[in-house]
Amino acid sequence: MDRRILLRNLLLGIPTSYLFPSMFSSCTKTDLLEGSDFKGSVIIVGAGAAGIYAAQLLKNRGIDVTVLEASTRIGGRILADDSFAGIPLELGAEEIHGKNSLFYDLVNFCFPDRLLPEQGEDAYWFENQLRSETFILENSDLQGAGQTLFQINDSFGSYPGSDMTVLQYLTEFPVEDRFMEIANALIANEYGTSLNRMGMFALREAEAQYSSGLDGFFLREGSVWDIFEKAFPEAIDAVLLNQVVNKIDATGLKVAVTTSGNQTYSADRVLITVPITILQEGFITMLPALPADKLAAIQSINMGNGMKIMLRFSSPIWTEETGSIVGGVVIPEYWVTTKGKGTTAHVLTAFVMGEKAEALNGLSEQQIREAILTELQLMHPDEDVVGKCIGILVKNWADEPFIKGAYSFPNPESTGQREILARPEQGKIFFAGEATNFNGHLATVHGAMESGFRACKEILES
Ligand SMILES: Cc1cc2nc3c(=O)[nH]c(=O)nc-3n(C[C@H](O)[C@H](O)[C@H](O)COP(=O)(O)OP(=O)(O)OC[C@H]3O[C@@H](n4cnc5c(N)ncnc54)[C@H](O)[C@@H]3O)c2cc1C
Repeated sequence: MDRRILLRNLLLGIPTSYLFPSMFSSCTKTDLLEGSDFKGSVIIVGAGAAGIYAAQLLKNRGIDVTVLEASTRIGGRILADDSFAGIPLELGAEEIHGKNSLFYDLVNFCFPDRLLPEQGEDAYWFENQLRSETFILENSDLQGAGQTLFQINDSFGSYPGSDMTVLQYLTEFPVEDRFMEIANALIANEYGTSLNRMGMFALREAEAQYSSGLDGFFLREGSVWDIFEKAFPEAIDAVLLNQVVNKIDATGLKVAVTTSGNQTYSADRVLITVPITILQEGFITMLPALPADKLAAIQSINMGNGMKIMLRFSSPIWTEETGSIVGGVVIPEYWVTTKGKGTTAHVLTAFVMGEKAEALNGLSEQQIREAILTELQLMHPDEDVVGKCIGILVKNWADEPFIKGAYSFPNPESTGQREILARPEQGKIFFAGEATNFNGHLATVHGAMESGFRACKEILES
């Protein structure tokens, strides 16, 4: 997730209610609650960012931890491809959001030289031409319409009106139709959805609390997974793969966790970190049944389709200055993934979420390639876009059987529900994962880690 619009909020000084403390005193040492007496065992379901970080925190305190992961690999929505372009390309999480973030801290301790500030400038696809931000903001023919859009983006965290979808709000404001694709890219695509699926109150709830900071960073070399592998070795050792949990029984003294292979594990506490989609489909039977408000919270938080498509070119079709291209009809956001990474490969990432991702869902790789290259050719009329494209790699997160989408987003029904989702049940069942983050950091790696931290505190205090 890219937080371009949110950075503006912070520049305007919108209050942040939650600052996460720095907890890394080295790459491999993290400190947690002082003085807890909890000596029991814990099963963690899911080995993504939340589950792995929580497992390491508990391991650091000598607690017996087992992590049960359904798939054949650790990392969940952290996944890199090493073969397409000769450098790791992030198919899931990529950007490090702000310096006031657990994940920034971690990278800074483990691999400080790898922090690469966001590269290049945004180009906007506007009225069939690529335009600079200065053009959008300052062109007198636009009579401030571009500024209006950016000002609206700046003010979601203090929105005073009634609840409606973000599309309704923009239409009523009004934001001119010709800016809607840019608005969709800047606001909705980055949140993993489309404008008509986001709610103003839910968006306000997230943005008013977002506190991780102004700067965006990428990794100059290596991958997000490398950081986890280096920092959390004991947690990774505690993972059992191919363990598809389908039942959690908390009716006895211990919690019994059963897998589809009919293996049963027991522990004093269980921490569930699976994506919201997996909870929604009721794949995991809970005994006793979860309370009605928890079940309602689970159903109220949406997570949509999302794809990352890597396009490799023999030489750049973009200009020296280009960092991102914003506002495409097929693909709302493209960025030059290889910029600043000391490689001779030229890769453009196409990032598409929500309705636009659904539109590509049933297409073959060849059809997706054609749709994207047609759009890029329109944007770069003087380049031989098709001739220069030497490869495509499609990652469709809806196809991941134990993830089923990209990340949760602020849909109207989700307002106030994340805290209920995160609440422990019966003193034995705990919840973490990006969708449980109610401090404005949903849909991020550091938000998932924060949720793991919160759940560990709850376990230690239980
Ligand atoms: C395309 C894309 C781009 C992104 N870009 C960024 C970015 O730039 N910056 C950023 O900070 N974040 C980004 N994110 C979001 C970030 O990746 C996630 O918020 C974070 O990784 C989620 O971690 P998690 O632990 O909550 O969930 P997950 O990583 O999904 O982990 C949950 C785990 O549970 C497992 N599981 C599911 N069901 C079961 C079961 N029944 N039994 C056992 N295990 C089960 C899954 O296999 C999975 O491994 C992006 C995500 C995507 C998809």
